This record gives sequence, C-alpha cells and structure tokens, in this order.
Amino acid sequence: MGKSRMRVCGHGASRGVATGPAFVMPGRPSVEKRVIAEEVVEAEIARLHAALQDAREELEALRDRAERELGAEEAAIFSAHLLMLEDPELVHRAEQYIRTERCNAEWAQKRAGEEIAAELAAIPDDYLRARADDVRDVSMRVVSLLSGVPRAALSKPDQPAIIVADELLASDIAHFDRSMILGIAMQTGSPTSHAAILARSMGLPAVLGAPGLLDAVRTGDVLVVNGDAGEVIINPDAAELATWEEQRRARDRRRQELQALSALPAATTDGHAVEVAANIGFPADVEPALAAGAEGVGLFRTEFLFLDRAAPPSEEEQFAAYSQVARALAGRKVIIRTLDIGGDKHLPWLAQENEANPFLGLRGARLCLWHQEVFRTQLRALLRASAEGNIWVMFPMISDVKEVLEIRRVVNEVSDQLAAAGVPHRVPTLGIMVEVPSAALTVEAFLDEVDFVSIGTNDLTQYTLAADRTNASVASLADPLHPAVLRLIAHVVEAVRQAGKWVGVCGDLAGDPVAAPVLVGLGVDELSMAASLIPEVKAAVRSLSFADARRLALRAKSCRTAGEVREVLQQVTA
Ligand code: PEP
Ligand code: MG
Repeated sequence: MGKSRMRVCGHGASRGVATGPAFVMPGRPSVEKRVIAEEVVEAEIARLHAALQDAREELEALRDRAERELGAEEAAIFSAHLLMLEDPELVHRAEQYIRTERCNAEWAQKRAGEEIAAELAAIPDDYLRARADDVRDVSMRVVSLLSGVPRAALSKPDQPAIIVADELLASDIAHFDRSMILGIAMQTGSPTSHAAILARSMGLPAVLGAPGLLDAVRTGDVLVVNGDAGEVIINPDAAELATWEEQRRARDRRRQELQALSALPAATTDGHAVEVAANIGFPADVEPALAAGAEGVGLFRTEFLFLDRAAPPSEEEQFAAYSQVARALAGRKVIIRTLDIGGDKHLPWLAQENEANPFLGLRGARLCLWHQEVFRTQLRALLRASAEGNIWVMFPMISDVKEVLEIRRVVNEVSDQLAAAGVPHRVPTLGIMVEVPSAALTVEAFLDEVDFVSIGTNDLTQYTLAADRTNASVASLADPLHPAVLRLIAHVVEAVRQAGKWVGVCGDLAGDPVAAPVLVGLGVDELSMAASLIPEVKAAVRSLSFADARRLALRAKSCRTAGEVREVLQQVTA
C-alpha cells in the first residue's frame, strides 16, 4: 500500500519551495540526574568549566564560519551566544546546583539553562522571549559537551534532504553542510526566531510552528515544503510532486536569470528610473548588497551595532563602522538611521522602563531624546564619518515637528562642540522616517526642517491599521497594501516632491515585487530592501511603463480593501 498524502500547516518563515526526502532529527538526549560524592563536587565544577571553555571555542569557530559564509548579522547570533555563555547568572546557578544538590554537571547545567530560559519566556516582550531560545541553545551545547556528544556530531542526513525537527536551534542549522539541506520543517518556532533568520539568509525554504508535524512525518517520506504558504505536504502523489518540482525548477531558473541582470538600472520601459538600494545592519553587508545590484544603502539599521552586547559601542567603534560603510560604497549614498530601540528591541545596558504598550512608548527618536548621552555619542560619530563619504542621516519614529526641532538643536550643539575641539566633521543631509500616521498626514510641516523623507511601511502599517506587527493573530489585518496605507504614502510623496525634496521607501513593501510598481507609480525616488530581493524588484520595475505604473497606483489607491488591491495587482502580473 502507498503512503498516504497529508498536509500540515504552519508559518512560512523563509520563502520558496523545496521538495525531497524527509530527514527527521532525533530528539535531544535526555539528561538524568546523578548524585555524586561530596569529595568530587569540586572536580565536577572543574568539569563544568572545562566544558564551558570547549563551548566557547566551538562558538568562536561557528561565529567565524558564519561571518565568512553567511554574513555579519548571522555571525552576531553566535557573538550573542558567547555573551550568554559567560552570563555570570547562568554559570553561578549551574555551580550552585552541583554544590547544593550534589549532582552531575550535565543535569545542573540543563536545569540552570531551562530556568533562565523560562524566566525570559515569561516576560511579555518578543525580543526577550526570542532570547530564551538562545539561552537553551547555549546551555544544550554545554550539556552535549559534558555528555561527550558534541553538537557538531549531531546526526546529519547522508543525502540532500528536508530537515524535520521538533525544534532546530540556530546553531544546529549552522552546523549542517548547506549542500545537504533542501529545506526545513519545524514543529515549533516562529518566523522571527533566529532559526528563521538563518534559513532566510541561507535561502532555504522553511515552515515553522507546524503542530502535528512529527506525528505525520517519518524519515524517507517525500515532502514538499512551501515556504510561501506555510504548508508541508507529506507524500504527494506522483503528479502533484511533479507539479511542485516544476515550480521549484522554474523559480531557480528565474532567480539565476534575474541575478544576471541585476546590475541594470530599475527603469520603466519608457525610461523613468528609480534608485534601488539595500537595507543593511552591519558594514559587512555592503559587499553582498552591491553584488546583488544595490546602487547604495537606503537604510542602515544601526541598532544591530548596539544589540546583544554588555555595553554600548564607543564613539570610535561607531565612527569606524559608519566610515567603513561610506568607504565601501565609494561615493554612493548611504542613509544611516539613528538608534531605533524600544518596541520589540531592548538594550541590556540601558535602563528601560516596563511599558504597557512599548510600540506606543519610548521608541526610536523619542528614546534618543530621552537618553541624550547615547544619542550625542552616536551623532558625534555620524558627523565625523560624514566628512569621509556620502552619508545621509535619518531619525526614526518621528510623530511631531517639535521632535525634529529638538533633534536639530542637539545636532547643532554636537557640531559646535566638534568644531571647538578642532575635530573634522560635517553636518550631513538630514531626514526623517515617516512611519507614524501623524507625520504622514502633516508631512508638509516637516519639510522646512529636513532635506528628505524615507517611508517605513512596516510601522506605518501597524500604526495605521492598529495591528501589532509582532502579533501573528492580527497579521492578516496588517497588510501594507491596504488602501489607507497607500493613500498616506501617496500624500507624503506628493507633498515631498512638490517641495522639491527626495522621498524613498525603506519598509518591506519596497522589496515586494508585486507592490514595487505601485510605489513607482506613486512617484517615489527610491526603493530600499533586503539585498536578496533586489534582482526581482528591479525586474518588476522594468516590466511596465511609467504611465502604466501611475494608472496602477491610482486604481490601487481607490480600492476599498487590501484584498481588492491585491486582485488588481494580480490582474497586472497574470
Ligand atoms: C519600517 O518600519 O518600515 C522600517 C523600515 O523600520 P523597522 O522595520 O526597522 O522598524
Ligand atoms: Mg520602523
């Protein structure tokens, strides 16, 4: 009898389609508690410290490999793991268990890690909740070393396969040989987890958070992982499998064709060109962005330099990072966004109040004006780096003109101080992010104060539709193609262009090849997106005339719902 077809639903965490045999990862080995003799307690603690040292070496090697093969953002995951490994609380608790319970180091370490992870997971904060996974990941690495089964020796498929697991941690994924993984299907996890970030940067289709997956799949079953729709199809019949395989091959072919054309400009068939730029988090992201066809950097999210570390980066460190990016771009423009912390992003070294609604609280420029010492250090580094390259600086989460007036006052003070000290610097072109409806609706009022505007559609969507961008239950409401969002964008673009100034879009909508023609039709100067999306967006812009794009934008704007907008766009791309 043939194996029966089944379908399990989850969240699409990395786009694309994978087909192939399943390789089900065995569960983690259970750790038994063993009572040890009083005399060997100190030796057991020494064994724990030796394993911590081995774990440190493994993580350093993983970090270096991730930096070489994946990128700076992925390497930062393992830098954060290194910090957690050294967390005095984690080490102290494990030691305490060995002493007070007189037990083996494996059990003590596992228990300490689980406790701290559970405490983090209970905090109503997505960023800290995601860190709970990291603590367990680090702790399991130490346990594996203690029990003599290094994580690097985890079972692996011996032919290319789709990895199926209850849970894969970021470091599990980094251990695999890329050529042996076709895709990932996980029973737990969310699209914002580090495992999802790694899957995306490795270009592996992935479905996460799929309950019932492990009951339904056995090693050797044939799977289709559909990362677009968030579904896993188990043992499709031959005809269905052939259809999916053809879809996968067609996507691969198209990706290769588009990559070959990625250096061409994004100009419509009648010659209207828009700038296409990359969103980056680290200086090391510039090179792959240029290779993908980026003409500059439209958003440098500087908060990645500040996250996952015990102390803030110094002025010199920031100056080095900003000038490195400017130099790597060799005269092309880089728009650097000042620290955007708050909401779902926290800094361990900054005292931040618990807020009932953090996305409506002290976030972005508000937090910078509150903690001016952090802001001023960043501004000093930015003004100094601006003397060395084509740097524009923008401020996030602006909702009122008085914030911009205050920011300008601080910028002028910093500039005067640098001048008085004889430090070379330049006040860069200054702009704001428009991502709050109040700023969008009154954008004219800001234009005397700033030279440019970049629209952050991720936040503009969440604030316009009152739908938390981190809450999966309202994800279907938070559609950036909703006519309310499009009308706000249209208003902003019209006002900025009338004032003869520059307007870009750096939210995720800019990287959606279906939406890009609408944004072009609305008249934006630039689209900025994750580097991997550039070839497809450029191709989408090249596929129609500016007149068609304008007609499309008009139709989209006058729809009643996001669903209607998507239908209109589908007719065009069909
Ligand atoms: C946005 O809100 O669209 C944006 C680009 O900023 P972030 O996603 O970093 O909040
Ligand atoms: Mg934002």
